Amino acid sequence: MGITQVPDRDASLIIVGSGFAAAAVVIHLADNGFAPSDILIIGPGQLGSGQAYGCEADAYRLNVRADLQRLWPDHPDHFPQWAKTHIDDPQAKTHAGHFYRRTDFARYVSAQLEAAAGKKTLRQVPARVVDIRPAQQGWRAICDNGTEYHSASLLLATGNPEPRWPVANPFEDEATLIRAPWQGEWLTEIDPASHVCLIGSGLTAMDALYGLAERDHQGPISLLSPHGILPPEQVGWEPGDPFVWPEIRHASEFLHVARRMLREGSWEEPEWQQRFSAFRCGISKAWQHLPVGDRLKLQRRAGWLWSLARFRASPQTVEAARQLRDRGQLTLICSHLKSLSSSRCNGWQLGLGNEASLHADVVINCTGVGRDPLIHKLMATGRLTPLGKSNSPWVSPELLAIRPDGSSYDTLFCIGPATALALGDVVGATSVATQAACFARSLHTAGS
Ligand SMILES: Cc1cc2nc3c(=O)[nH]c(=O)nc-3n(C[C@H](O)[C@H](O)[C@H](O)COP(=O)(O)OP(=O)(O)OC[C@H]3O[C@@H](n4cnc5c(N)ncnc54)[C@H](O)[C@@H]3O)c2cc1C
Repeated sequence: MGITQVPDRDASLIIVGSGFAAAAVVIHLADNGFAPSDILIIGPGQLGSGQAYGCEADAYRLNVRADLQRLWPDHPDHFPQWAKTHIDDPQAKTHAGHFYRRTDFARYVSAQLEAAAGKKTLRQVPARVVDIRPAQQGWRAICDNGTEYHSASLLLATGNPEPRWPVANPFEDEATLIRAPWQGEWLTEIDPASHVCLIGSGLTAMDALYGLAERDHQGPISLLSPHGILPPEQVGWEPGDPFVWPEIRHASEFLHVARRMLREGSWEEPEWQQRFSAFRCGISKAWQHLPVGDRLKLQRRAGWLWSLARFRASPQTVEAARQLRDRGQLTLICSHLKSLSSSRCNGWQLGLGNEASLHADVVINCTGVGRDPLIHKLMATGRLTPLGKSNSPWVSPELLAIRPDGSSYDTLFCIGPATALALGDVVGATSVATQAACFARSLHTAGS
């Protein structure tokens, strides 16, 4: 597959962003007969890799087993079959299925793009879009190098924003303060004897622990966890019948259903994880029926718990964390970061929530929290509308962006993690691919 980097400036569809969502849209559009050459992708890096799969570290693995990591939502075997002939990774196999390296999944997505494009060339501009404006017919996308592109329709696929420090940090450029650990290059750059402190205890922290263990890190590791809990381990559950959601109109009813479904058992048992997966079927529809205020309330109160149960860790990372803890190298500290300053001796002084403090040589920001500058700007200038009093855009179930008067645009769309607050459980690859497939079908229907 060729990717041309000097496209003409017009397209039927511009996709802003070059990660997994953009690739999934291109692939599903091609599957619906849309010519890939009518699409212009604007975004840096290898198309399809993005923040999630564009990593350098072999130690970073998928956090779901291969049959659940889908580009083709109705074909659970597609990636596993490809993996059989294209991935040589004996460590991928576990008691709970195969958990491949994220770099290998990026190769799979590239191969699917190649198949979708055939002999045609995909058009990608390796730039960042800093603004979009309505044009006479469609949209103008303005890039950071000043160039403008025009299209009839525009899809925002800007994905997971660059993580930011959770506290003020005047030392941005220091090599021992890792603000964005997703690429994993820092693993080869730090001193193996250093005291590392991980801020946050989700899947990014689990990746960091596995990466450190794989590199045989010798120094102590501290991990700050506000709730003192690490993600549960993926176990080998089998899909069951989907849960049939009752009609739900309020946050309290939603919580009642969740409690009823998930109260019994331990979340590291196959039966619980199977029940959780049945409960997830249809959850996005139920979520979309809730009033906006109730969605925000649920997010605020139970979002962290949902994330923990939803984003479980691969057996490899859980085993690495267990071993680090067993030999006393890893300490879990139940607190959060309040301040960060340089220490009088070398290293960093971390102020913690309970007035305690901690010294570390290397600090890794594993919070995963950031703010998308383009989405933020579009909301600040009234082109996108925030969902209630949130920082997330209001998007219709058809992925159409909503105008400030509550009506939807006809040709401005948004996909992926930015739509999660509006639309529900749409962060993982399979959910994003499902959105991409629906989007491609609706564009196909509209055009025919
Ligand atoms: C570290 C990490 C690991 C993950 N692991 C898994 C996993 O194992 N399994 C799973 O199912 N899900 C996983 N996910 C979930 C993940 O969100 C989705 O799988 C998927 O990556 C979402 O794709 P995306 O294209 O929307 O976002 P991203 O992957 O974030 O890609 C967005 C791309 O758009 C570019 N971009 C952003 N703003 C602009 C702009 N203004 N102009 C031009 N380009 C722009 C970015 O540079 C980036 O390349 C993971 C997420 C992360 C962050």
